[in-house]
Amino acid sequence: MNISITKNTAPAKKPENAEYGFGKIFTDHMFIMEYDADQGGWHDARIVPFQNLSLHPASTVLHYGSEIFEGLKAYRTKTGEVQLFRPIENVRRLNRSAERMCLPTIPEDDALEILKTFVSVEYDWVPTAPGTTLYLRPFMFGNDQSLGVHSVSSVTYVVIASLASSYFKEGLNPVKIMIETEDVRAVRGGTGEAKCGGNYGASTRAGQRAAELGYSQVLWLDGVERKYIEEVGAMNVMFRIDDEIVTPALDGSILPGITRKSCVELLKSEGYTVHERLLSVDELVDAMKNGRLKEAWGCGTAAVISPIGELCYKDEVYVINNGEIGEVSQHLYDTLTGIQRGDVEDRFNWICPIKKG
Ligand SMILES: *Cc1c(COP(=O)(O)O)cnc(C)c1O
Repeated sequence: MNISITKNTAPAKKPENAEYGFGKIFTDHMFIMEYDADQGGWHDARIVPFQNLSLHPASTVLHYGSEIFEGLKAYRTKTGEVQLFRPIENVRRLNRSAERMCLPTIPEDDALEILKTFVSVEYDWVPTAPGTTLYLRPFMFGNDQSLGVHSVSSVTYVVIASLASSYFKEGLNPVKIMIETEDVRAVRGGTGEAKCGGNYGASTRAGQRAAELGYSQVLWLDGVERKYIEEVGAMNVMFRIDDEIVTPALDGSILPGITRKSCVELLKSEGYTVHERLLSVDELVDAMKNGRLKEAWGCGTAAVISPIGELCYKDEVYVINNGEIGEVSQHLYDTLTGIQRGDVEDRFNWICPIKKG
């Protein structure tokens, strides 16, 4: 594919200390291309100086929520190379989300080339301080200039990048989670398995209520019976019950996380008993009461592994593993971040090296 590159002639000064926060400091460039059904599809693929977008006030995304996104990171190794972690998985998921939302797909090779070319242009922006990364945010939205409700014919695809601080400053701090019994995130047949902005809009209220009570995220139950465990906040969730590792099966309303998939593949390859299955909140509560729940953790690109130290269900508080990180959680964190940083051998061929542009 042909990607034109217009260099930013006034590049920003990169911050001197590594307190970037998350998603606030953007790089000098962005990737953008448009799709028009009547112009033969995707066109004008280009990397340009980072800039505002200009939208028609009737643009589809502003009214009907026609938007999907992805999230992945570029990592700097000790020896100074830059690499991505399983970017083909993000590309495939982007296309599955696009299909669900009636947005156009991007040929896999092209979508991958876009990511690699963009990161090669922003190579020097990939930070070097321990734990820091360059977070890539690809997103696509319907951009018809009309209020008619129908499938879109004009679409925009953009990739931006921003600096991300180390997620955990002093090791992995277990978080407190509240099991949400009122709001639901998704239902089967809905958009739960698509990575779309709308899922987030609807889940803000529960997160806000949990935060007011001192919890950092909610654990979602299924949308029909409010009985089965789904995910935690914007992460997938895993439990160690005795010596079984359990994570909810992908039943149509759960986001298929790449970190989740990597944890499952890694643990299985090491001989752990891993089951993707239905897990009811009653089974979980029983396991907590009987001391059989040894560990619980969320997993996702941002935090990698986020140990859960406390779960609250219907005003009852359960402490897990004394509120400390468990051995499997720590092992997963060390191994995944080790592979991402090039410190642990990449037995699975997950790493995608990037050349400086
Ligand atoms: C992105 C996301 C995840 C985690 O997916 P990763 O590919 O591991 O980053 C989990 N749940 C939701 C709702 C998400 O949006």
